[in-house]
Amino acid sequence: MSKKSNSKSAVEVLNQSGNIANAVLPAVSEMASPKPQTYISFSGGVESTTMCILYGKGNKAIWCDTGAEHDEMYERIDYCEKALKQIHDGDFEIIRLKANVKVKGQFVSSLTDAIMGWMFMPTQGRRWCTGKFKIEPIDIFLKEQGECELMIGLNADEESRAGNWGIMSNVKYKYPLQDDDITRDECEEILKQYNLQPDFPLYMNRGGCYMCIYKSVNEYKAMYLFDRKTFNKVKAIEEKVQDKRKKFFTISVNKYKMSEIQKLIESEIMNWGEDAVKSFYEKIEQKQACGAFCHR
Ligand code: SF4
Repeated sequence: MSKKSNSKSAVEVLNQSGNIANAVLPAVSEMASPKPQTYISFSGGVESTTMCILYGKGNKAIWCDTGAEHDEMYERIDYCEKALKQIHDGDFEIIRLKANVKVKGQFVSSLTDAIMGWMFMPTQGRRWCTGKFKIEPIDIFLKEQGECELMIGLNADEESRAGNWGIMSNVKYKYPLQDDDITRDECEEILKQYNLQPDFPLYMNRGGCYMCIYKSVNEYKAMYLFDRKTFNKVKAIEEKVQDKRKKFFTISVNKYKMSEIQKLIESEIMNWGEDAVKSFYEKIEQKQACGAFCHR
């Protein structure tokens, strides 16, 4: 539930002018903070991109790359950085962080390398991926920054959603969208003005990593239809992990092997035709994300 108060948010004031397109531009410079040690937790999604527009000037966004991101995510990060630099007259940057995890005596920076090194997939019960490949690299970075602030993208509709925040004593955690009463809808409106709405494909609905355990069977079916190369990559990871452990671990939480998902979708294509099936899977909606750090 939104915590809208009597005080008007920046977006409400802008809306009252009847011309948000013209009104947003001056508001960006008004709302930007010049503090050099303020960081914005950036995921490329709706809220964090809005924060970069509104509060990014003079500040730095931090994005943690698990090494298992979809190609579309890398393109999105580059696109956003270029656009946000233009918006803020060059006074903005995205710092790309990566993990450095010791796996059987060797340091790896990619989640898939860790999975293959340990021969152990993250599961819902043992979701080590987020901790080691998202939270720890950000915490290590922040620890080295001394006293600093971190902006977290919870919007005014999300008062009760908890994130993985608040553990670093040198970091002051800030929730500027909530402080400024900016809702999800208002974030989307602002993004539209700057042509910065995320346009992720449907197989990226849940979870950033291409082999995320939180993707549904339908999302993996969509991946088969629209990004066959990545689907095959996920299937190969699953099969390799299985071979080593002599026990089958499905990547999908719904206990279907990737090869079974492939058979299901191929049978649908056979029955209904590829165009009809593609059109059906294009309508999948987001239901759950994998947590604040992985949330887009
Ligand atoms: S997106 Fe999925 S696989 Fe990646 S870190 Fe988050 S929970 Fe783990």
